Amino acid sequence: MDSHFSGQKFRSEAGRVLIGIPAYAHACDALLGRDSAAVPNTYIDALVQVGASPLIIPVVGDQDLLAHLINLVDGLMLIGGPDVDPVHYGETAHPGLRQITPSRDRMELRLTVWALQAQIPILAICRGIQVLNVAAGGCLWQDIASQVPNARKHDQHPDYREDHLAHPVQIAPGSRLAGICRQTRIDVNSLHHQAISQVGQGLAVVARADDGIIEAVESSGEQWVLGVQWHPEWLVARSKAMLALFSAFRDACHSRPAVADSPGVWPE
Ligand code: MN
Repeated sequence: MDSHFSGQKFRSEAGRVLIGIPAYAHACDALLGRDSAAVPNTYIDALVQVGASPLIIPVVGDQDLLAHLINLVDGLMLIGGPDVDPVHYGETAHPGLRQITPSRDRMELRLTVWALQAQIPILAICRGIQVLNVAAGGCLWQDIASQVPNARKHDQHPDYREDHLAHPVQIAPGSRLAGICRQTRIDVNSLHHQAISQVGQGLAVVARADDGIIEAVESSGEQWVLGVQWHPEWLVARSKAMLALFSAFRDACHSRPAVADSPGVWPE
C-alpha cells in the first residue's frame, strides 16, 4: 500500500445517501461454508440505480454496534425473507407458519423501532412491511391460504418468475404511494404467504389487493415510511412507478433534517 494515501479522504459524488439494509441470516451452505449475512443483488441494484449507497447490516445482537450503524445511515430498507416469529406479536405458531430466523427478527425489529423513533425514512419490502407492522405493534396473518377465506393465491413462488404480475392493487387516492406511482391501480408481483392482519400504530393502509389483503402501508404522520407487500426491486426495469419508489425513498433520505450534534441517547 502507498503510504501517501494514509489519512486521505476519497471523493465521491456529493449528495449520495447511505441506506442500511439489514441482511438475511443465511444458513451455512456448501458455497460459503459458514453462517453468513446476505443481501440479494436485486435490492442493492435498485438502490445503486437511483444513486444511493447500500450498507449491508450484518445479523448481530450487539446493541451498541446496531446503535452505531443506525446513527450512520440516512435511511433503512427492510427486505424480504422468512416469516417473523409470531411471539413478537403475541401469538403462538399456526401450523401454516414457515421458517423463522429469530436472530434476524431481533435485529430488524430493534433497528425499525429506532428508525421510527428517530424519524429515519424507511422503505419496507415484503417481509419488510411485516417487520415494520410488528415493530409498530401490529399483527400478521401467519398463512393467508389457511387463515383468510376466499383470498387469492399470493404465494406465486416458485410457479412463476419473480417479476410475474400476479394481481392488481388498488391504491388510496391522495396517499404518498399514489403520488409516487401517479396511479391508483397497479399490477404487482406477489411472493408472500403472510400479510398484515391488524395494522400497527402510526401506520395507515394505502393499498389492498382485490381480495382485501393489505398490500401497502405508510406513516400516518410526517415521517417518510412506506411498506409494500410486493417486490418492486424485481420490476424497476419495466415499470417507472416501481423505480419511482426507490427514487422517492432516496429523496426522502436526502432531505431528512440533519441530526443536531448532541451527546445522543442510549437506546431502550
Ligand atoms: Mn400479493
